[in-house]
Amino acid sequence: MTGSDTGRRAQLAAALERVEARVQAACRAAGRPRGDVTLVAVTKTRPASDVALLAELGVRDVGESKAQEAESKVAETGRPELRWHMVGRLQRNKARSVAGWAAVVHSLDRAPLVVALSRAAVRAQRELDVFVQVSLDADPARGGAPAGDVPALVDAVAAADGLVLRGLMAVPPLGTAPGPAYAELAVLAERLRAAHPDATQLSAGMSDDLEAAVAAGSTHLRIGTALLGHRAPLPR
Ligand SMILES: *Cc1c(COP(=O)(O)O)cnc(C)c1O
Repeated sequence: MTGSDTGRRAQLAAALERVEARVQAACRAAGRPRGDVTLVAVTKTRPASDVALLAELGVRDVGESKAQEAESKVAETGRPELRWHMVGRLQRNKARSVAGWAAVVHSLDRAPLVVALSRAAVRAQRELDVFVQVSLDADPARGGAPAGDVPALVDAVAAADGLVLRGLMAVPPLGTAPGPAYAELAVLAERLRAAHPDATQLSAGMSDDLEAAVAAGSTHLRIGTALLGHRAPLPR
């Protein structure tokens, strides 16, 4: 291992320890077992070498937000023990790529994507776990279906070949405390479970708000910055 690898490994190990302590404290405060909550390390914009170091430190769930970047990173990382999660905006023409590398899709938010992803999953002979992304702030740029569209969308996912409905996903609104938005998400999730009792998972919580998400019942935390440090701004 080179000197810089050793330094980066120590940095990631310390960050992982800090995040793990936060997750444990949040679970304790919410009266939930730690095993209920999966930590997804969001490695977008980060090199495959970071993913490999995280894998050596015991991380098994890795999140990416761009199909193309992910596809090459998955190949370069070459670690079959990892479960890759697509957390970013989905495009219909990337369904085939995503069905090839992702085990879990967090960001399905429109009916045409159900058709495209189902077809791609069947073709790849894979089953994809799917979260339906709900918009909590009516900002189309941040993705997510309006709450009113969610019932039809989850029914479509549940009925689609190659897709397994797991639950709802959301990103918190910008510039406000996440608590009320996550409480609203929890209500929608409970409604969803009345129709789909097996959809018991909830994808919510990022670096700044994981505590509020665990309190609201999140089962999948998507953590980037707190593990990997600040990203360079994404190109526009
Ligand atoms: C980047 C990203 C995250 C991680 O955000 P951090 O604030 O860096 O923890 C989570 N969810 C989605 C959808 C993302 O794009």
